[in-house]
Amino acid sequence: MLTEKGSTPNPGSITNPNSKKRVLTGDRPTGKLHLGHWVGSLKNRILLQEGYDCFFLVADLHSLPTHFENTEVIKQNVRELVLDYLSVGIDPENSTIYLQSMIPEVTELYMLFSMLASVPRLERVPTLKQMIRDLKIGSVSLGLLAYPVLQAADILMVRAHLVPVGEDQASHIEVTREIAQRFNRLYLTVFPIPEILIGEVASLPGIDGKMKMSKSLNNAIFLSDDPETVAQKVNRMYTDPRRIHASDPGRVEGNPVFIYHEAFNPDTEEIEELKGLYRKGGIGDVEVKSRLTRVLNDFLDPIREQRAFFANQDHIVEDILQQGTKCARREAIKTLGLAKEAMGLDFLKEENPILTRWLNSNYQTSNSKE
Ligand code: ATP
Ligand code: MG
Repeated sequence: MLTEKGSTPNPGSITNPNSKKRVLTGDRPTGKLHLGHWVGSLKNRILLQEGYDCFFLVADLHSLPTHFENTEVIKQNVRELVLDYLSVGIDPENSTIYLQSMIPEVTELYMLFSMLASVPRLERVPTLKQMIRDLKIGSVSLGLLAYPVLQAADILMVRAHLVPVGEDQASHIEVTREIAQRFNRLYLTVFPIPEILIGEVASLPGIDGKMKMSKSLNNAIFLSDDPETVAQKVNRMYTDPRRIHASDPGRVEGNPVFIYHEAFNPDTEEIEELKGLYRKGGIGDVEVKSRLTRVLNDFLDPIREQRAFFANQDHIVEDILQQGTKCARREAIKTLGLAKEAMGLDFLKEENPILTRWLNSNYQTSNSKE
């Protein structure tokens, strides 16, 4: 019934009868979304949601490795996250938005996958080392070490082909690819090997000049910040530390204020003019920043408006998550069934009516077309 061991004949068509390729990505509900999310991943999601079958995951279980001691904030963060999605134009009619912890099959798949990733391999993941440094984590929990394995379960659970993320996630997606390859080689070809799609700005720096704007590092401009807060944050922004007077020649390369102008200012002539003046000491930081404040507030105005519109609708977040989770769970049940069948762990398969029905209709039909 399944494809030959080790072969990879277009797994997408086996697993997804509507033939649209699949996208999976998501965010940890550890706070509101920020400008880094927009350039790193959200922008690509908006572009992809027409042509792809998109799954957007509210990764509450992924919050636990860093937030297991204060889980009470997660519920509110889930709400803020979904409102952020809606405010930038993620459309629940087109895309599936769902809650990770409501899909028990994901944790079962995660357990099966945990056999396929070695501890030294996971210890080498650079994001883990970075997180330990940034958040000053004393001892690494099993859950934190296995974070990329859970991510592999999320991605492969919907048999995704494409994962739009920021640069910090690249090493995690590599683990997913390795797990999928290993599984397909060891058992049967169940999973596509997903590609990574890095955003236009791979890693937007924080307002403090750190390499990455992050919810947890207190260096973010949020999509929901009001205009005054944006102005204050831009005024505090790190620029060229060697520049003391407006008449000193300044450095544009690697200067966050200019990185933000490049990412958000649609007026390329203005950017070139500002860069030229800055390099020769012809303009002060205050002026460059005040223009940036205007640019960011112009960008954020329609997002704020959309957010206020959705925030006023009762139960909208709950309804979207219920609906999306139902749909994602159907996929999870199918995939877990396929994975267990491939591993020979399907002794009582006929007792699972949903899986049996699906295997007998969609799966066999699409497989027999090949
Ligand atoms: P936390 O600090 O809690 O880890 P975060 O700001 O890193 O939060 P995540 O939810 O971990 O946000 O990341 C969600 C997605 O956004 C990931 O694909 C990540 O790569 C991307 N992303 C986050 N911050 C940035 C950034 N500064 N630049 C580009 N992409 C980013
Ligand atoms: Mg992160």
